[in-house]
Amino acid sequence: MRERLREQPDLPRGVRGALPGAVDEALGQAARRIGGAAEKLARVRAAQQPGSCTAWWGICPRCGPTLRTEDGRSWCQECGAGWGYDRSQGPCGEAATFLAMDAQGGTVIVCAAHGRHMQERLDGGLLLAIPTL
Ligand SMILES: [Zn+2]
Ligand SMILES: [Zn+2]
Repeated sequence: MRERLREQPDLPRGVRGALPGAVDEALGQAARRIGGAAEKLARVRAAQQPGSCTAWWGICPRCGPTLRTEDGRSWCQECGAGWGYDRSQGPCGEAATFLAMDAQGGTVIVCAAHGRHMQERLDGGLLLAIPTL
């Protein structure tokens, strides 16, 4: 493995530098087309959904994954908001504002807090604001 890496020093950078402008342009167009298709899909999905976050674990709607749960009740360690049930174990249910799409094209609609949290973890995926109707 190490040998093979040494044989191709900085290959991606070299290739990118050698791309004629036309290829860069084509890649840009493809990216925009994919973005456009995803956005259309986002609108369709958004219209089909009842409009609440489908994440399967709770989160503080203001702060993110900062919940603590003990004895069947949860609270946020950041802002102190509390819930009288184990919020970390159930579906989130906050109003959905984003559609997250993973690299395989699977989608899930999520609230703002989940969206922010997922944004950093979407590897090759997309996070789209659901258009308000
Ligand atoms: Zn909070
Ligand atoms: Zn959520």
